[in-house]
Amino acid sequence: MGRIEKFLLERKNKNLFRTLHPATSRSGGKIRLDGDEYLDFSSNDYLGLSEHPKLKEASIKATEKFGTSSSASRLLSGDLEIHHQLEDKTAEFKGTQSALVFNSGYQANTGIISSLCKKTDVVFFDKLSHASIIDGIMLSGARLFHFRHNDLDNLEHLLKRERHNFDASLIITETVFSMDGDMPPLKNLVALKEKYDSMLMVDEAHATGVFGKTGSGLVEAEGLTDCVDLIMGTFSKALGSFGAYIACSNEIKQYLINTCRSFIYSTALPPAVIAANLAALDVVRNEPVRRHTLLENANYFRQELRKLGFEVLGASQIVPLIVGESQRAVMLSEALGKKGCRVLPIRPPTVPAGKSRLRFSLTYHHSKNDLEKLINDIRQISRL
Ligand SMILES: *Cc1c(COP(=O)(O)O)cnc(C)c1O
Repeated sequence: MGRIEKFLLERKNKNLFRTLHPATSRSGGKIRLDGDEYLDFSSNDYLGLSEHPKLKEASIKATEKFGTSSSASRLLSGDLEIHHQLEDKTAEFKGTQSALVFNSGYQANTGIISSLCKKTDVVFFDKLSHASIIDGIMLSGARLFHFRHNDLDNLEHLLKRERHNFDASLIITETVFSMDGDMPPLKNLVALKEKYDSMLMVDEAHATGVFGKTGSGLVEAEGLTDCVDLIMGTFSKALGSFGAYIACSNEIKQYLINTCRSFIYSTALPPAVIAANLAALDVVRNEPVRRHTLLENANYFRQELRKLGFEVLGASQIVPLIVGESQRAVMLSEALGKKGCRVLPIRPPTVPAGKSRLRFSLTYHHSKNDLEKLINDIRQISRL
């Protein structure tokens, strides 16, 4: 048996085989799959902006004006004025000196980390960090140490033991974790970064558009903009579009333009996407009701589930309901599917054994009524 065939068979035998499920339509927080319609609790369109008329209109206008492609990388002829407008506006939104746009969050993390860190450096990262962060560190060749999730005693222990063995040091965490829906103690992280002469990078993929007074993220909410060296985030989740940014000093921006391979060797984002991102920043500023409602509903949902005696993690729009064994997560997900609700089971190795969960990703489209019905359904099926 060939290597690939053997691999696929093993995956199937372990019930870990991944497949794609094309939707025939998606709108208003609903998704249509194989002819059935579901309320979708597995999308990152947290503010419902992917269907916002202002984003659509901006995108169509930009396509009519500039065409469908940027046709080259930023350093060649793909650099349009609207790319610069987006970077200025992003820097203003994040409260930083500068910002640089990337083609995706994955490309941002792999490119930025590998261009900043060298073999003689060290990187400390939260154990639950996104794959793109880990891949960026591996690509850099730096020594890497993970600390236990949100455990700063563990981080300090590692810093004390390892920091002086290396040239430069970078600490990386996320501001809202995708599988646990929780946040790190950012103020204490800043204190540690200063004490141990490190840089601090945060990934605001799930916090951008949702947290902070103006919706720019958790760093804003905690008033730490001036204390974090690199604030990465995406336009692909709450902002309803595509692409990513790093908000940083002008010096770091210039360094990345000159060294970052995922920035240099990739075609610039198309005008339609850049224009939608610009419009999304306006909507986030002008329609705070979206993020307020989202977080209120998430708090309501979490509290009600806890009242029913469930173990529920996090404090954000991501609500993980712990169900234990992976078989049970699959069974509950299927039972909720029959009730018209699409929520995915998250199983090992993505999460620890015995901590399989249903991960509810709430969006502005989910009304209080939808959540009430969902809570009822969960109560019923959990007796199965
Ligand atoms: C989604 C995500 C990314 C990747 O962003 P894309 O724009 O989808 O490539 C990076 N980091 C975190 C924490 C994410 O959740």
